[in-house]
Amino acid sequence: MNSTEVVILLVDDSPDVLAVLGEVLAPLKHRIKVATSGERALQIAQTQPPDLILLDVLMPGIDGFETCRHLQADPTTRDIPVLFVTADHANVARGFEVGGVDYIPKPFEAVEVRARVSHQLERLHLHRELLALNAQLEERVRERTAELAQANSHLRREVNERRFMQDRLQYLATHDFVTRLYNRSALDQRVCEVLARRRRERVDAAFLMIDLDQFRLVNDTLGCVAGDELLHQLAEHLGSVLNHGDFFARIGADQFAVLIEGPEGQVAAHRQAQALNRHLDHFVFTWDHREHRVSATIAVVPITDDTDSFEQVMLMAEDTIQVARQSGTGQVLVYQKHRPELLQQRDAVNWAMVLVDALRDDHLRIHFQHIQANNGAGRMHIELLMRLWDPVSGRLIFPGRFIPPAERFKLIADLDRWMLRSALAFLGRHRQALGWLGEVSINLSAVSLRDPALAVDVLDWIDEHQVPAHLLCFEITETEAIANMDAAKVFMQRLAARGCRFAMDDFGTGYASYHYLRELPFDVVKIDGVFVRDMDVDPSHAAMVASMVEMLHLLDKPVVAECVENAGVVEQLGTLGVEQLQGYHFHKPEPLTLDALSRLQRAASSPAQVAPETDAAAQPSH
Ligand code: C2E
Ligand code: CA
Ligand code: CA
Repeated sequence: MNSTEVVILLVDDSPDVLAVLGEVLAPLKHRIKVATSGERALQIAQTQPPDLILLDVLMPGIDGFETCRHLQADPTTRDIPVLFVTADHANVARGFEVGGVDYIPKPFEAVEVRARVSHQLERLHLHRELLALNAQLEERVRERTAELAQANSHLRREVNERRFMQDRLQYLATHDFVTRLYNRSALDQRVCEVLARRRRERVDAAFLMIDLDQFRLVNDTLGCVAGDELLHQLAEHLGSVLNHGDFFARIGADQFAVLIEGPEGQVAAHRQAQALNRHLDHFVFTWDHREHRVSATIAVVPITDDTDSFEQVMLMAEDTIQVARQSGTGQVLVYQKHRPELLQQRDAVNWAMVLVDALRDDHLRIHFQHIQANNGAGRMHIELLMRLWDPVSGRLIFPGRFIPPAERFKLIADLDRWMLRSALAFLGRHRQALGWLGEVSINLSAVSLRDPALAVDVLDWIDEHQVPAHLLCFEITETEAIANMDAAKVFMQRLAARGCRFAMDDFGTGYASYHYLRELPFDVVKIDGVFVRDMDVDPSHAAMVASMVEMLHLLDKPVVAECVENAGVVEQLGTLGVEQLQGYHFHKPEPLTLDALSRLQRAASSPAQVAPETDAAAQPSH
């Protein structure tokens, strides 16, 4: 407290006393005001409150005690410290009673007067500082509370958004969007759970595979819009016969499956299969005023102690379907281990042998498809696709047929190695093409990611053929096979360190897309063609694509849309800001040759549609 700012009011009816006190206090350099009566003192105190009052007790009019009482009663003056000035020791106690804080005895001892006054002013000063600090503290607490409340609500909003996104992704990942049934990955997971549970407690269970007999006919003659509608209606029709708790899924273009658990699961499953078949007799699909009927072949596979994986159950079911079909359509057949027809069937296409031969005899081919940048800018981006030459039929076989058995027979890593080595050798041989290409995408099975030697080999081949590593993008389909996350991470990091990029393929169909996207260093995401293909006629698919794109952009991932088949879809994807487009609308896959690349390079400035895949007889299986 600056001494000149301090105001002391001296109150005494004797001008002499006031003069003496004034002199005594002069060295303290405070401002002094005087009043010669209690009434005058109150007036001054109310209009210009002093910091301290020295108050005489005996005065004409209202005396010191009375004056002090008035000061105490008034909120504006209540806190001004009052020191009584008295010659009578008996007044001291009363002075404290009415609110005085100290007293100054007469006659004055200059040193004592100054000491008592300074002491009171010091107290006052500390008291005022404490009040200021308290006020500051309260203000800060108020500010922090407001900040916290704001941060809290922000956080809550983010948590809610995240949860909403996760739920949407979870739904996307586990459901089929045509029928709203569970999808194949969800079924896979459920079968694995049942198998695990069976090891602890005895639960009876069985698996039904329902394979439609004439779906392809409807789809091919009426188009995929009718096909989707048929599947949708059929799913509802079949679902109405099932029991609560049966796990109903769509597992392929024209395949459904039901997992039945509980006591008598296997007996119940057989009964259920027959009921489903009978119920199908009543199913009529009307399209364009014409009625269509479908039948199905149903395989019943009991889940026993010998069952150890989803793949095995699927294989048994597929084999059983093939055998059942030999006796015509609309059959129900229960899997039996030693059915001779099954062994024959298994041998009919011995994929393991075909693939081993193909690798040895050089029957694999590389085709490629252009991936178009949305703004048409930049160098060429292509995806390499594998084909298998079948010397017996003289046709190409598409990967939809041979990749799944290759995965089943553990030959997929060999196929991937073949593709990588051949592709890098091609690029090394045709160095001209390196100048045209901005990016080359190569599909890798998730199984291959588990092979630590593969990353080393790829880097060796890159060096051997002197191909810039940043040209390569590896497309990995998110499957349950990325089971070993750590191995996948190491693989990806090793190649990413050299500049290779990674794309998550078939986004939206897998089981844990979002999880993998967070855990693994993907640069790009490709939305599965199944959502893109018909988004111009199917509003639900359009909405799915829009929400996926929005979500992926939120995660800062550029998006590629595949299976773009017409201009309507191109326009929709443009509006959504999808970065790259791929599909028959722009380019149909064709054999990888320098000529083909050169032609595409020339056409790139004026995008034209390129002729279809050379072997028209070979149909993709999806
Ligand atoms: P993917 O990676 O999703 O490849 C896209 C598939 O969609 C290709 O089928 C392509 O020909 C087809 N496609 C492209 N544009 C359109 C379109 O506008 N409409 C329609 N309906 N289809 C279109 P493809 O070549 O039969 O390949 C099927 C799958 O096989 C690929 O799917 C990929 O997962 C796998 N695959 C292909 N090559 C390899 C390979 O070298 N290694 C591995 N591990 N997998 C491969
Ligand atoms: Ca791909
Ligand atoms: Ca894909």
